[in-house]
Amino acid sequence: MLATVIHAPRDIRVDTVADPVLSTGGDAIVKVVAACVCGSDLWPYRGITPTHEPHRIGHEFVGVVEAVGADVAAVAVGDFVIAPFYVCDNTCANCRNGVSTSCLNGGWWGGDDRLGAFADGGQGERVRVPLADGTLVVVPGPIADDEVPGLLALSDVMGTGHHAAVSAGIAPGDSVAVVGDGAVGLCAIIAAKRLGATTIIAMSRHPERQALAQRFGATHVVAERGDEGITRVQELTGGIGADRVLECVGTKESMDQAIRSTRPGGMVGYVGAPNGGPELPVRPLFNRNVGVNGGIAPVRGYIEELLPDVRSGAIEPGLVFDLELPLTDVAEAYAAMDERRAIKVLLRP
Ligand SMILES: [Zn+2]
Repeated sequence: MLATVIHAPRDIRVDTVADPVLSTGGDAIVKVVAACVCGSDLWPYRGITPTHEPHRIGHEFVGVVEAVGADVAAVAVGDFVIAPFYVCDNTCANCRNGVSTSCLNGGWWGGDDRLGAFADGGQGERVRVPLADGTLVVVPGPIADDEVPGLLALSDVMGTGHHAAVSAGIAPGDSVAVVGDGAVGLCAIIAAKRLGATTIIAMSRHPERQALAQRFGATHVVAERGDEGITRVQELTGGIGADRVLECVGTKESMDQAIRSTRPGGMVGYVGAPNGGPELPVRPLFNRNVGVNGGIAPVRGYIEELLPDVRSGAIEPGLVFDLELPLTDVAEAYAAMDERRAIKVLLRP
């Protein structure tokens, strides 16, 4: 079968690899219907995180179950399933505590999955899914083709945006500023509105992304950054800053922007994977009673909650996919996201 392999920075190829096989009783084999490129896939693509040897890549996919191991009970052949961006058993103490990204038995797509075989990546024709009962979420059929982008968004970006909103403690009537206009930031706007925020400030300099932010519920757009951006947020929030600020980038600059845009007593919810060394300035946080809460999003636990709203059309996270390419054009998919020509690229095997 075909699958995406990263060989080195900016060297992304579709290679012919061995078909996956059931290797434990808890496995499923999923035929991928759609996958996508994540902002975090760009870190190895750009060489910011090293690639020591060629390996499979991609961690967001939806598909149809083709085979299951003898111990699998929750998914069956023919089911349409959403895979979160990691593997988890959904039963261990960390999973039960709502932190399935820290599953005691889990692992990462494209990484060493601790279960006896090198894990498949999501950007391929098929994927072996370890711990299928805990990892996969079944979507009852029939599934219309135009539902696929929204369902795929639940594998990562929608749940991650939701985690920022939940971590910040958004309540009805809150003012919220969102730092970052990538797919996660845009989904964070959806989540903020869904949880009842009434003032939603999108911090974005790109006209197309500003338009999507407004469609998703942003009431204001702030294009300025740094001190000017903070001043604009304060002007829109009675002079004090936003009740909740969602940090969806992961750089020193974006975390600084988020903390300084938060009102005294407010909370930053952060989900941007830290790159570029953001460190928390404890004294300014202390002086203004600003909290910081968040981390890698345990999206598996959010899929069932968000799924009805996606299926009803109440929320439309699938709109973040503004380019669709065949899997064989995966190199162009990475380039388009790297050069910010596309917000997020959907791949069809
Ligand atoms: Zn677990």
